[in-house]
This record gives sequence, C-alpha cells and structure tokens, in this order.
Amino acid sequence: MILDSKIPAGPLAEKWTKHKFTSKLVNPANKRKYDVIVVGTGLAGASAAASLAELGYNVKAFCFQDSPRRAHSIAAQGGINAAKNYQNDGDSIFRLFYDTVKGGDYRAREGNVYRLAEVSVKIIDQCVAQGVPFAREYGGLLANRSFGGAQVSRTFYARGQTGQQLLLGAYSALSRQVANGKVKLCPRTEMMDLVVIDGHAKGIVTRNLITGAVETHAAHAVLLCTGGYGNVFFLSTNAMGSNVTAAWRAHKRGAYFANPCFTQIHPTCIPVSGDHQSKLTLMSESLRNDGRVWVPATKEIAEKLRKGQIKANDIKEDDRDYFLERKYPSFGNLVPRDVASRNAKYVCDEGLGVNETGEAVFLDFRDAIKRDTRQVIEQKYGNLFEMYKQITGENPYEMPMMIYPAVHYTMGGLWVDYNLMTTVPGLYALGEANFSEHGANRLGASALMQGLADGYFVAPYTVGDYLAQLAPKKVDDTHPEFDRVKKEVEQRIATLLGINGNKTVDYFHKKLGKIMWDQCGMARSEQGLKGAKADIQALKKEFWSNVKVLGTNEELNQTLEKANRVADFLELGELMVDDALNRNESCGGHFREEYQTPEGEALRDDENFAYVAAWKYLGEGQEEELVKEELVYENVKLTQRSYK
Ligand SMILES: Cc1cc2nc3c(=O)[nH]c(=O)nc-3n(C[C@H](O)[C@H](O)[C@H](O)COP(=O)(O)OP(=O)(O)OC[C@H]3O[C@@H](n4cnc5c(N)ncnc54)[C@H](O)[C@@H]3O)c2cc1C
Repeated sequence: MILDSKIPAGPLAEKWTKHKFTSKLVNPANKRKYDVIVVGTGLAGASAAASLAELGYNVKAFCFQDSPRRAHSIAAQGGINAAKNYQNDGDSIFRLFYDTVKGGDYRAREGNVYRLAEVSVKIIDQCVAQGVPFAREYGGLLANRSFGGAQVSRTFYARGQTGQQLLLGAYSALSRQVANGKVKLCPRTEMMDLVVIDGHAKGIVTRNLITGAVETHAAHAVLLCTGGYGNVFFLSTNAMGSNVTAAWRAHKRGAYFANPCFTQIHPTCIPVSGDHQSKLTLMSESLRNDGRVWVPATKEIAEKLRKGQIKANDIKEDDRDYFLERKYPSFGNLVPRDVASRNAKYVCDEGLGVNETGEAVFLDFRDAIKRDTRQVIEQKYGNLFEMYKQITGENPYEMPMMIYPAVHYTMGGLWVDYNLMTTVPGLYALGEANFSEHGANRLGASALMQGLADGYFVAPYTVGDYLAQLAPKKVDDTHPEFDRVKKEVEQRIATLLGINGNKTVDYFHKKLGKIMWDQCGMARSEQGLKGAKADIQALKKEFWSNVKVLGTNEELNQTLEKANRVADFLELGELMVDDALNRNESCGGHFREEYQTPEGEALRDDENFAYVAAWKYLGEGQEEELVKEELVYENVKLTQRSYK
C-alpha cells in the first residue's frame, strides 16, 4: 500500500483554508442521521465529542475512568503553546511551525505542523470563552512563559494545573451536549476491539468495567482519542491507567502504527526511589524558566554529596557545572527535552550524579529567589514546589530539587493522514494516540495544543468530509462481524482467566519495562535492541502460560483489566524495538549510540531515513511490514539541530 498523507497542494499557509473549503459538507438536517463513536474523553476526545455533537451528529463517548474529568490530560502542568505573539517578542505562526519541525528533528510533516501552528491561536480564544482561568498580566492580558526549544514566550498557563483547567473547559462543553442528548457518555467502559466491515470502521466492542458485560456499538465513524503508551516502560509520568489497548487492537485490524520507537524522555522528573515504585512524578518544564540545572564540577565533590558528607548549598559557585548553560549558551536551560535529558544522563554516567543512586542532577532556584523574591517564585510554581516537598520531604525553596529523566510522552502512534484518518477508512486517531505533529521529539506545551487542535478544529471538518460521502442510513450491530469480534474478545478474557499461573501481571509489566528502559530508552544500540527483542518474545511466551489473573469477568476486576493491557504492551514493545532497530540513525528522542556527532548529539541520516516508518500488522507471530511515507520539506531546510 502506498501511504497517501493527503496533504493539500499549494502554498503552506493556504493549505488548510483550501482544504476546508474543498471538504464536503453534511447538510444540517442530515447531521442527526450520523452516529460517531469517540473513544477517550481526555482533551482530544472531550473536545472532539463536544464539537461533533454541537454540529449535530449523535455521539457516543467512552472512557475507562468514572468521569472524563479523570483523564490523564488532567495531569498536564506547564502550559499550552499558541502563536499569539502577545509578548511582541517575535513570535508568529511560521515561527511556531519552524520551532516544532526543528524541535522534532525534522521527522514531522510540514503541512500538519503548519496547520497546528495556525489553529493554535484559536484554541486560546475558545478556552478563554469557556472560562479557562489562564494566568494574566497586571494589565489583564494573558500571561506567557517560555518552554524548551523556543526563544519566544508563547506558553499560556493556569499555574501548574493547565491540563486540569483546560479539561474542565472541554468537560463543560461536553456536559452541555450530554444534557442536550447529543452525547451519550459511557464511563467505566473499555474499548476491547474494533469492528471493520468491508474495509471500513463500523463500530467497537467494549467491556463494562463494573459488570464485565461485553457489548457491541455501531457507528458511521470511530475516533480513537485514547492517549499515549508510555506505560509500556512500566515506570513513567503517565497516569497509571494509560495504555495502548485501543490503538493496538485497531492496529491488528488494519491501522498502521507509525514511528513506535519515538518516545519522549522528560528531563525534569523526581528520580526513581526504589524497586517498589509504580509511578514517576513530573516536575514541569516550566520550572526551567527560572531553575538552573547543575552538577558538581568534580567527581570527588559528587562523591561527598552522595555519601551525605556535604549538602548542595555547601558547594561553592566555582565548583558547580551549569552544564546546559555551558554547552548551549543561547538556549541554556531551555534546550528541548531530548537534549536536556541526554546531557543529564551523560553527566551522571560520568559519575557526577547527586543522589544516592548517582542518577540525579540539581534544579536550583537559589538565584531566581534572590533575584525575584520567594513570593514571586511561589506565585509562579507554588503547587509544584509543594508537590516536590510532599514527595521527597525536602524544601525546594531552601535546597535545590533533584531531578532525572523519565518516560513522559510517546510521539509514535497510529498513522494518520492530513484528515487524521488512519489506514482504516472511517477510523480516526486524535491527540497523543496518533503520531502526527511532533516528529522525533515533542516540544513542551505542544501536546495540549495538538489534542485540542485535533478535537476542536480539525476533526469537525475532516470527519464531516468522510460522513458526507456515506449514505445517511441507520447503522446497527446486526452484521455478523460484530458477533464474531465480540466472541473473540470473550475468548481472550476467558483465556487470561484460565491460565492460572503463578506470576502476577505486575511481574511481567515490570520485567518488560526494564527491558524497554535499558535497551530502548534514552540510549539504544543494535546489539542491545536485538537482545531486547529476544527477551520480549520469551517474556510474552511466559506471560501466556504463567500469568495469574484472579477473580472473574463478571465483576470489577482490575487485575483482569491490567492483564489485557499488559498483553498488548508486550506486543507493542517488540514493535518499538523493531522500529528502533530499523532506524539506523539518531533523531530527537531516538538515540542510537552508533550514530552520534563528536559532541554526542543525535546524528540524523536524512538521505536514508527522512520518512515516517509505518508498520503493518500481518498476523500472529509474523514480522510486521514496514511501509514508508517519505517526508518532503519545501519550507524549512534540513540542518543539524543546534541550540548552542
Ligand atoms: C505529568 C504530565 C504533565 C504534562 N504536562 C503537559 C503540559 O504542560 N503541556 C502539554 O502540552 N502537555 C503536557 N503533557 C502531555 C499531555 O498531558 C498529554 O499528551 C495529553 O493530555 C494527552 O491527551 P489525550 O486527550 O490525547 O489523551 P488522555 O488525556 O490520555 O486521554 C485518554 C482517554 O482515553 C480513554 N481511553 C484510553 N484507552 C481506552 C479504551 N481502551 N477504552 C475506553 N477509553 C479509553 C481514557 O479513559 C481517557 O479518557 C503532560 C503529560 C504528563 C504525563
């Protein structure tokens, strides 16, 4: 199959406008004749469901939490980008586009990224209209702060709770449509599979997480807004429930999976504290606006620190190495995440780490407090400081924070074209679930922007274009394919419950996570990846013969839920390794040790790898087929990224 990204022809700045005009429309009176399923009610899903219902379509929205308000999106702290140029500091749509393409190390599509930058300005207006309490300047204008990979301030924020406030806005819009009867909300319901009839997505099979009932739902189109798969690493900053199941089952029904190995490892997380930990905590990137990252200048001082003989504040200025400011004077502490993470790893690998395990660097606000006063810092980051103190027991106003990189976001996801449609007609992927705009590294504050762009401003047009081409005939689940897929789901559940082995689901998840972190994490090598592939295959075999899932299907059974998800992570993990093995270059967060510049930066190979790697599922036990979408750059020049 040739992958057609369907990027409209013509000048970059006119593509989206032209595309909207040439997209087909559904007559207002006919909209009520179409049913749309939206799986996921985080920022991408809630905004899409609300917008489609507002247009007049009948929407059924699903989530596994008890309320859309608990989607992982609520965890987003730092902010949301938009090219408003309120600061008058030189921002523009083109600059946001350029920063995003460059930040993604030239592995994203120009057309999609430009559209994202273009609609970014509308998102802010929409959210303000919903009452989202963005921070404001004294004069009333919305305030901005800086995020990594940009030299302008374009990040809008609501203290350290931006995701929560945006989600409350989207949830209000969604609730309005629930009250209007246009959205039927199905919480505590997990999508288990996709139903494809005559090559088109026609519905889903779900499991009610309270009763265990397996049910079928039909629609004219299905939108997956199911978030990212960072939890394949077991430890990540993602919500514990985040998983790949919906996307993975769709993949097995024909949706290609793109760039699965592109993972974002965020530089500022609270370091791992021990083997019994099940979750990592992010300290928002916004902290790098004022916090300075450093390690001791010598191993001897670092050693004393680790042994508890001295404290951070005992280390003299000359004995500190502000390594990001030293190496990247123009971007300093605000280099993109992949660059900051790699450098933190380098200094820790050299023996300069500052905690007991040697895997931490300092993030220090001493100078910012001296300059701006504690009160100002508290106003900006108070809740983040409080969170740090509660978790670590240290007071970050007095002692520098300790941070280390952790898995945070997945740039890979279901392959989608310009319309956000997957390779299965009628099946869309929005938000973190798709692969679209961030290339090999996402810039901070751009995920919320993308999720809301997809949901509020892109899908309402492109889904309409697809529906307009279908007859407005009623759909139902009487086609035998619904029953067939439902039986497969029931059989899988029965198999998991019947294995009755002697290892917990977490045992397998942790083992998988360790393989992924060690071999497909911050640094990857051919040898390590080959070993990882064999290890994952063996682990998968053991899982299906030795996992113990207690309880029954007909009850709230979190072990069963988790077993289902871990089974999919095991398959995804292998594909991530295949993808990393195939990509014989380094780019963004994908760092193959064999391919680096003399300074240790990612060394791309544009001649051979300027493509999206889309993987096609060919059947159980078979290697997946690689299908390439060549990336064409007409508006930016591919160069070695430099933040010096
Ligand atoms: C700690 C943290 C802080 C962050 N801070 C920022 C930030 O400041 N700025 C920024 O831009 N980005 C940030 N991000 C990234 C951003 O939060 C996410 O990328 C974004 O919120 C994802 O939104 P989403 O709507 O795509 O998915 P999610 O919010 O993850 O929602 C997924 C939805 O899908 C549902 N779902 C999943 N699978 C199924 C299934 N099988 N069946 C039914 N329902 C299902 C869930 O119930 C949920 O409703 C942060 C991420 C983390 C981890």
